[in-house]
Amino acid sequence: MFEFQAVTIQELEELAHTIHEHLQMEGKGMHEVGELAIPLAGNIKSVLERLNVPHKVINGNIVVSQDYAKSLLVSLGFVDTNGKIDGASAIANIERYVEKAQSALELANAVSQVKLEKRSTFIGARIGRPEKARERLMQPAPNALFPIGDYGGRDRNITDAYEKEEKKFGDKKIKVEIARYKCDTCGRIVGMPYCYDCGRPTRIERVDSDEKAYDEIEIDIDKMMTGAMKRLGLVKLPNLVKGVKGLINKDKIAEPIEKGILRAIYGVYTFKDGTSRFDATDAPITHFYPREIGTDIETLKRLGYDKDYLGRDLTSDDQLIELKHQDVIINKRGAEYFVKVAKFVDAVA
Ligand SMILES: [Zn+2]
Repeated sequence: MFEFQAVTIQELEELAHTIHEHLQMEGKGMHEVGELAIPLAGNIKSVLERLNVPHKVINGNIVVSQDYAKSLLVSLGFVDTNGKIDGASAIANIERYVEKAQSALELANAVSQVKLEKRSTFIGARIGRPEKARERLMQPAPNALFPIGDYGGRDRNITDAYEKEEKKFGDKKIKVEIARYKCDTCGRIVGMPYCYDCGRPTRIERVDSDEKAYDEIEIDIDKMMTGAMKRLGLVKLPNLVKGVKGLINKDKIAEPIEKGILRAIYGVYTFKDGTSRFDATDAPITHFYPREIGTDIETLKRLGYDKDYLGRDLTSDDQLIELKHQDVIINKRGAEYFVKVAKFVDAVA
């Protein structure tokens, strides 16, 4: 099967004519087909190269071996239904379809007795799929594993629930399913491991022997958010702090809201288990060129790369270098996300 996508209709037509002019096998059966020889002239060699037809140049002739000559003749419709070479009909057929065909592959399919498939898809990339590498996000992607129900609108925006829905929800209390953390000091059930009202640690109160540790609990979102902002030293909340509609863990234990606020500030999202992830194809790589990964030589030397793979001193970004076992090459987008995550982690600590 040849690479018909790589040539034009006109080039295929020209090739067929040239073959026909020099064909010595008119009327012969397929088993009698021998080498195909065409004078080395014009565009023909280039067309054969792009079609991926193996050939040699001998004494000014392009020579295609017996097997490939057969394939080529079949593909171009030089073989009739009886298995005989019929160049005149092939050319007539090609001329009939040359105007109608949309591609060289279509033309070959119109004239050939056999069905010809597209051989390959051309891909330019060397490794990996950078376009596929991205933050791994839930849909919708939350900043905070904190249940906000329908209070934050479609975006589950906790900031909205806190700031903008004041009138709608009166005294800014939300009712959500959350773990029954109770404050022993003030007696409130606050839904979190510290009391947003008096600041004391709380504990989960299980009802009797009931396994169920959560309930629909009214939370004073005003006090909760105001307290969180104070602890974080914020005068204003990020415009969007995405929570979740509901929690899915068994006891419905929410994250401290501060974590969600900090993620929103640093552009970090969380997965359902509280991790932040970045998806990338694991493309094994053993060697690299500095210019391909966009890292300058000075930086590489600082990282311990002072020789190329042949042991020569590193002086140019064109030298091939063996990647050390402990190192990975991360794409730019991944690196940017990791920096955000690192900033978030620093802020939490
Ligand atoms: Zn309390």
